[in-house]
Amino acid sequence: MLQDEAAKRRVQRYHSGMHSPLIDIGINLTHDSFDGDRTAVLARARAAGLVHLVITGASLDGAEQAAALARTDPAFLSATAGVHPHHASELTRAQLPRLAAVLDDPRVRAAGECGLDYFRDYAPRADQRQAFEWQLELARARQLPVFLHQREAHADFVAVLKAAGPLPPCVAHCFTGTRAEAETYLEMGLWIGITGWICDERRGAHLLEVVRHIPADRLMLETDGPYLLPRTLQPKPASRRNEPAFLPEVARVVAAARGESIAALAASSTATATHFFGLNALFQS
Ligand SMILES: [Zn+2]
Repeated sequence: MLQDEAAKRRVQRYHSGMHSPLIDIGINLTHDSFDGDRTAVLARARAAGLVHLVITGASLDGAEQAAALARTDPAFLSATAGVHPHHASELTRAQLPRLAAVLDDPRVRAAGECGLDYFRDYAPRADQRQAFEWQLELARARQLPVFLHQREAHADFVAVLKAAGPLPPCVAHCFTGTRAEAETYLEMGLWIGITGWICDERRGAHLLEVVRHIPADRLMLETDGPYLLPRTLQPKPASRRNEPAFLPEVARVVAAARGESIAALAASSTATATHFFGLNALFQS
């Protein structure tokens, strides 16, 4: 009987933790895999305890779409506006005013996603660096936070950021690197975004150690949906598509790795994201 009670309380605690307020700081909600059921995806996100989503804008078209989508529900949605390194070649000097116009939309709370990706190398590296530098300038001119992407390009990425001089707050989104790389980012004053990569026992297990060393006021959570479905989800969803309603699973794994409750991690990561993206006004209105 006592055991039953303890088990019941554990389940209750788990579920109450699973409904702690969370903010998904990186969701590719304009992706066409959401075209058929975006309203239902948003409803499931709310039911799972999410209080806000920051929609990633990762190309000129994508940034405009993300801002437009954010305008449909200003209390629940905001957007970033940037050009991902994969699309770096589309950001020519002539296109800068177009990106600048989206960055001036009040629904846009950060510049990016921008950075360097030498893993795929879809765009020439010189184009990637140029697009990255331009976006850091646009962010600085507006004092907008920056949503950063880096893959297999750590040294150049750090070099570009350091050469850029003083910047607004920056988050290394979907951090997948080593503890040493995380330490470098923290010393540089960056925030760190953790996705369901940490739930992947094949390539993300090292992050279980890394997240123990990230101060709570620098740590934010994201799904990066539709990508990176957490592999630890039980039961496994029928589709491989990731969505904001699965963010509590990322929170569960990160909280366990840090030796804290889901509720505590939810509270700190939500406060951190609210501060980072300047969402305070939303939650007070
Ligand atoms: Zn990214």
